[in-house]
Amino acid sequence: MSKQITLEEIQDFKTAYPKQLYGLFFSEMWERFCFYGMRGMLTIFMASQLAMSDKDANLQYGATQAWVYAFTFIGGLFADKILGFKKSLLWGGLMMIVGSLFLSIDPKSFFFWGISFLIVGTGFFKPNISSMVGKLYKEGDSRRDAGFSLFYAGINIGATLGGILMIGIAKGAILSNYIPEHLRWNAAFCLVAVVMIISLMTFIFTQKSLGPIGISPFATSENKITKWYEYIVYFGSLASIPIIMVMVANTHYTDIFMYIIGPFSLLYLFYEMRNFTKIENQKLIAALCFILFSVIFWAIFEQAGGSLSLFADKYLSQNLLGLSVLPTQVNNSANSIFVIIFAAPIGLLWVWLSKRKMEPNAVVKFGLGFLFLGLANLIYFSLRYFVGADGLSSLNIFAFAYFIVTMGELCLSPIGLSIMTKLAPTKVQGLMMGMWFLASAYGQYVAGLFGASISPDESASILEKINTYTAGYKQFAWYAIIAGIVLIVISPLIKKLMHGVK
Ligand code: GLN
Repeated sequence: MSKQITLEEIQDFKTAYPKQLYGLFFSEMWERFCFYGMRGMLTIFMASQLAMSDKDANLQYGATQAWVYAFTFIGGLFADKILGFKKSLLWGGLMMIVGSLFLSIDPKSFFFWGISFLIVGTGFFKPNISSMVGKLYKEGDSRRDAGFSLFYAGINIGATLGGILMIGIAKGAILSNYIPEHLRWNAAFCLVAVVMIISLMTFIFTQKSLGPIGISPFATSENKITKWYEYIVYFGSLASIPIIMVMVANTHYTDIFMYIIGPFSLLYLFYEMRNFTKIENQKLIAALCFILFSVIFWAIFEQAGGSLSLFADKYLSQNLLGLSVLPTQVNNSANSIFVIIFAAPIGLLWVWLSKRKMEPNAVVKFGLGFLFLGLANLIYFSLRYFVGADGLSSLNIFAFAYFIVTMGELCLSPIGLSIMTKLAPTKVQGLMMGMWFLASAYGQYVAGLFGASISPDESASILEKINTYTAGYKQFAWYAIIAGIVLIVISPLIKKLMHGVK
């Protein structure tokens, strides 16, 4: 039998990236292909196939996404305490495959069944693969940020492909000669299942090279009872499906859940904090500041899958720099394409600035992220001034706004991921990663509320509808700009709490 690779051997790599990163990169890339492909279809599917109003579709979208990210918190916790990252990932992937198969058989009847499997599955998959990336590095290894950047690029390659292909198939812009009209949504959902199988196979091939990383905390235990803990998690996650179905379908229940899970996670963190030193706790408080602000960021950013998706579908021309494309495809992929192009140059810009002792600290970067987000929303607002004779506004301006949004995201999201791993003591790393994603859950949830609050009346004229949506984006722009200014003003204070972590 070949000897299992040790953690030291994994972390002692001489190349720029550990070789295990590539397997995790591809596995996550395919998972995000499914996630973002689904996200790009959800609101449009609900509005066009389930006959929901824009307002309801937005609320439902927010609720669904909130559950996805809330489950990443729960999935992270169970991985830490019982399953380990590897088993969590396999279990999550399996659930996602089952969910997408439901949807491909009959998306209308099985909609909430399928979505619920996907929610729980993603919860077990998403946070744990990110945590495994963190484990490939020794504490203090300066190559960690570069690893996360590459991983983030993988996320966005998957998001681009999924965002373009799935809605393209569903709306008949791709493969329409081969797929009869009444089966197009089924085919798009079936693609999710196929791609998730590829993701899982990739992980299965990578697993061995991860050695001890991600094994269950009970792996070495002789106690037979611990096996039962595992079964309980599997059973519990299956049993939660019908409950989640009801909760997602009734957004009112989602409200209640969201009121509870945030305070609960905070209480749990405070409980864990009792044994840490003052400095460790101050760092955790700093991490919490990042987490809280990120909620506002995602609430505005995530209009992408909700109101902006509907806006693009209905009120934009199909002309992108002279080429004819579906505006929803641009909506679903422009952000990720810009991330793929600009993630590395922006990383290099930070290094360049740091050599000249001019690199802004993480708090100021967050602040800049908000200012970019605000600017982008002012550009969405300006779309009302570009409505042509056909009653449709400019796809080029819309895509440009996505470029600016992406600059904001790159100042915040990868920085947030790596700062969580730097500020949290080892014992609560999983928890803090979970809380980072839980902030996304709140962001998504508020995104749905925001989206619904700017949805026009069904009876309004097209021009009125465009004006209502764009007035909403102006409002969001101000929220973002104010948040950015507040962050920059209080940055010296948060910096103090970080005790030298950059
Ligand atoms: N785009 C990133 C991803 O899909 C971050 C998403 C988030 O945290 N809201 O992983």
